This record gives sequence, structure tokens and C-alpha cells, in this order.
Amino acid sequence: LVQARNVHKSFDQLEVLKGIDLDIMPGEVVAVLGPSGSGKSTFLRCINHLEDIQQGYIEVDGEQIGYRVKNDRLEKLSQNGIARQRRKIGMVFQQFNLYPHMTVLQNIIEAPVGVHRESRKDAIENAKRLLERVGLSEKANAYPRQLSGGQQQRVAIARALAIKPKLMLFDEPTSALDPELVGEVLATMRDLAKQGLTMIVVTHEISFAREAADRVVFMDGGVIVEQGKPQDVIGNPQHPRTQAFLSRFL
Ligand code: ATP
Ligand code: MG
Repeated sequence: LVQARNVHKSFDQLEVLKGIDLDIMPGEVVAVLGPSGSGKSTFLRCINHLEDIQQGYIEVDGEQIGYRVKNDRLEKLSQNGIARQRRKIGMVFQQFNLYPHMTVLQNIIEAPVGVHRESRKDAIENAKRLLERVGLSEKANAYPRQLSGGQQQRVAIARALAIKPKLMLFDEPTSALDPELVGEVLATMRDLAKQGLTMIVVTHEISFAREAADRVVFMDGGVIVEQGKPQDVIGNPQHPRTQAFLSRFL
């Protein structure tokens, strides 16, 4: 479903991604681990074309993100073209970014109705199903400020799912939460993983990576240093940098 090849990304002189290659199969759950500044968020943002890239390419669902080939040359996609591609990709950030003046239900139907021209009725029905899925049916008419951080993040997940994405990107979805609220969000994500959603999860929750991911990718210094099954990468890391990183969590 995702094919990244030789992805390079720089901010001015600073090269942040130095040739990332990654393939993700439909239904796969990939956890991305790595130290601060290693380029994890930048890579996720490139997949969604929130950042452009200087070399290589990223394909999602058979389409090159952000560019198209015309007369044998690469051409940047229009804003419309990029928006169309983003409909296949849901993203959940560390900060929940809900609209404070909208209810939970309004937050969830905003994109389907406003952007995707879904009928209000269908969007509301789907939103209610999604709220059930994240365990928040009774909060449809609450405002974000009336919810705990964990509940807000679960609404943010429901909102990202409302566009029916083929791929979900999570960037440290629990790291802004109080420790006692982390579990409920991870449980929601485990459910989604079991239901066959394709997910890329940047996280520092090693136990989530070990138990819920099909594959763990360890990034450091803008490259993928090591990847494989969780029990191998976490249980028996081969690369010194992976070993050093993981030893901090013991
Ligand atoms: P963390 O675990 O702290 O979230 P990360 O692995 O997600 O780290 P990135 O946010 O991808 O790291 O940042 C990688 C590098 O790119 C850092 O050195 C950062 O300062 C730099 N960087 C990120 N975004 C920008 C930007 N918009 N402009 C300039 N430099 C940036
Ligand atoms: Mg980050």
C-alpha cells in the first residue's frame, strides 16, 4: 500500500531524511521508533505531502504522492490533486487539534460533509458508528473542553477515520496525555490494528510496538537503521544504535 524509495528531505542545509526505503502491505501495522530529531515526524509528514521531498518518491495506493508524470517529466500536483490524495490518508497528531467551537459530532462530520460532499445524514450515521468504535457514543454532543485528553484523542482518531482512509498515520498520539489516559487510546489503536487497518505509528510506547505492531522500524539520523518483527528488533536488536536506544526503556 505504501512504497517509499530513496526519500530525501532537507530543510535548507539540514538533511533530515537521507534515503528512506519502506514498503508497507495492506493491513500491516508498522511502529516507528527512534530518538528525538531522527526524522520520524518529518517522514510521516512527507507521506501526507505536508512536506515536499527533494529526491526519491512515495507511492500510496499506487499513486505517487504530490507529483504526477506528464510527458515523461515529474510535475507537482495541484492543490486539488493533493487534497484528493490526502483523502486516502488519515493523520492523528500528538496534539488533538479538535475544533473547540464544534461538538464532537460536528468535528467528525466536518471533513466528510465540508470537503467530501457526503450527505449530512450519511456522515452523521457514520460518525455515530465511529464514536461507538472508539467508545464515546455518549459524548456526541459534548464540546472538546468537556472531555479528558484521552477522550479528545479518541475523537481525533474517529475524525481521522471519518474520511474512510486506506492508511492511518499516528505521530506520538499518546505523548501529550497524562499517564493514566494513555491506555485507553492505545486500546483503541489496538482494536483498529486488529480490524485490519493499515497503520504507521510513531511512538515511544515500546509495549504497544511489541504487542500491536506487525513490524518495527528503528530510525536514527534520517535513515532506517534496523527493521523487522517486534520480537527481533525490540527483543534482540542487532544494531548498536538500536541497542543503545532501547536500553533506555529497560
Ligand atoms: P521527536 O521524537 O522529537 O518528535 P522526530 O524524529 O519526529 O523527533 P523530526 O520532527 O522529524 O524528528 O525532526 C527531524 C529534524 O528536522 C530535527 O533536527 C528538526 O529540528 C528538523 N526540522 C523539522 N521540521 C523542520 C522545519 N519545518 N524546518 C526546519 N527544520 C525542521
Ligand atoms: Mg516527532
